[in-house]
Amino acid sequence: MWVKASGMCLRDAIIKDIFCPVDINSGEPLTNNKCSKAGLRPSIETVLHLSLPHKYVFHTHSTVGIAASLARKKLPESHVLCHATYIPYADPGCQLASAIYSSSSISETNIYLLENHGLVIASNSLATINHFFSALDSADGSHLRSFPPPNIPRLNAILSTYPQLSLPKQDLIHALATDRFCLKQVSESNPPTPDHLIFCGIRPFLASSPSIELKHVPNTCMYIVIEDCGVLLTAGASSFTSELLESLADIYLRCSSDSSITCLSDSTCQELLGWESEAYRLSLARAK
Ligand SMILES: [Zn+2]
Repeated sequence: MWVKASGMCLRDAIIKDIFCPVDINSGEPLTNNKCSKAGLRPSIETVLHLSLPHKYVFHTHSTVGIAASLARKKLPESHVLCHATYIPYADPGCQLASAIYSSSSISETNIYLLENHGLVIASNSLATINHFFSALDSADGSHLRSFPPPNIPRLNAILSTYPQLSLPKQDLIHALATDRFCLKQVSESNPPTPDHLIFCGIRPFLASSPSIELKHVPNTCMYIVIEDCGVLLTAGASSFTSELLESLADIYLRCSSDSSITCLSDSTCQELLGWESEAYRLSLARAK
């Protein structure tokens, strides 16, 4: 069985080797191949892929899927994920694989909506999987709430005082500072998924006063949210931080502004931050 390597991007699959061979009986990685020689290791979700009998098991952290998992009870009948099997939050790895394995009967195609995590679609037919992702794509881009624009001149003025900070390339990220619902979420709640926790940190540094003092931003903060103004990245941001912040804004802008979202609990955050497998993913991102 071939599984994506931990910390690698699926979009890179056509330009470099990102899949690791795994013994389908034991789940152990096979050695003496390009993946192991490059020091890569199979994804922590290897056991999830092994737990389903289908020929193809696709697992993604789609923002449409994550937003749907957060708004599960309000999904309209027409939503592509309305009838997916819902899996309450489980830690990545064995706990999640076990929850999926015991959740439902296996049929030709199974679709799972993973709370605070993403999606799994398992099928013996690639055509079916393509059809599903086409339907998901058509849901993508719709239902994104518009948000007030950032104050770029003010952000640039702040950067002239603090050159160690940087402006994110993706405009959507500034919604975390200018959209009231996004701002409430990032300032009062833990992140919604393990990826957002690992690559963006548990909370941003928040600033709101007219004269902004950023000398004492803790090293652990990967981004700064300046209320009604915009977002800046700190020197602690990894190569994935801005991508995950864009995804965070995308998810929250899909949620209705009166929704009540269940984010990761304090104990789950502390547990995940102590995992060696998550430290490994972060070290790969910081090495890029
Ligand atoms: Zn995952």
